Amino acid sequence: MTEFNKEIDAAFQSAWHAAKGGDAKWYEVMQQYGAEPLSEGLKKELLESEMKIARGAFPIELRRVMEKIMAKYPNDSKSFAMDQKVLEYYQKIKPFTGLGDIFANASTGTAKYSQGLQKEKHNTIKCKNCGAPRLEEMQYDNCLFCGSELFERT
Ligand SMILES: [Zn+2]
Repeated sequence: MTEFNKEIDAAFQSAWHAAKGGDAKWYEVMQQYGAEPLSEGLKKELLESEMKIARGAFPIELRRVMEKIMAKYPNDSKSFAMDQKVLEYYQKIKPFTGLGDIFANASTGTAKYSQGLQKEKHNTIKCKNCGAPRLEEMQYDNCLFCGSELFERT
């Protein structure tokens, strides 16, 4: 394992073992790397959003730490798939919903169908990486939840 992978792995583990929304120990890791934590306001908004987490720091904070590690090892980071790693992390901190999820999805599907295409027009922008909806009342280009770019750059 390279030093780069070791540090990425250590950051991943710290984020994952942190209390829901992050804790003092995780904050120390962020500080150590000079990564900026989420503001309390945003954290609260994310905790109340539909992007539920059962444990761990928010994916966007892990991304910020991993970005710092990438900057430390520019050669190793060339082949590093950040979005994929962040998504892998999100899968681990998501609450387990099991079968209930399938039924919930099935019933929303039917409801959507019977409502016709009326609602389809009202398309909210969703993150391609984690599926978080973009808040319409705020201006930003990167997903608040996982930090992935929401718009294609031209
Ligand atoms: Zn996202």
